[in-house]
Amino acid sequence: MDSKKIYTKRNTVTRIVPKNWKKTPVDCPVCGFAFRDFDDVLNYKTHSCCKDCDLIYRQPNSKKWEKGWRPDKP
Ligand SMILES: [Zn+2]
Repeated sequence: MDSKKIYTKRNTVTRIVPKNWKKTPVDCPVCGFAFRDFDDVLNYKTHSCCKDCDLIYRQPNSKKWEKGWRPDKP
């Protein structure tokens, strides 16, 4: 298995994760609110936003969204 080790500050716990593993953020980059559930995380991985932002911003502007458009932060 191709993996790397991540050590905590005190080296008391060792986590072994795949080499291409990237940490998923805990907040939606569009609205800034924390992800509420796993569906929000899955939605982030496919569309780079939470479910609410998907419904409110991405779906009505899907063509602009694919080109990189994002709504202004409130
Ligand atoms: Zn959001």
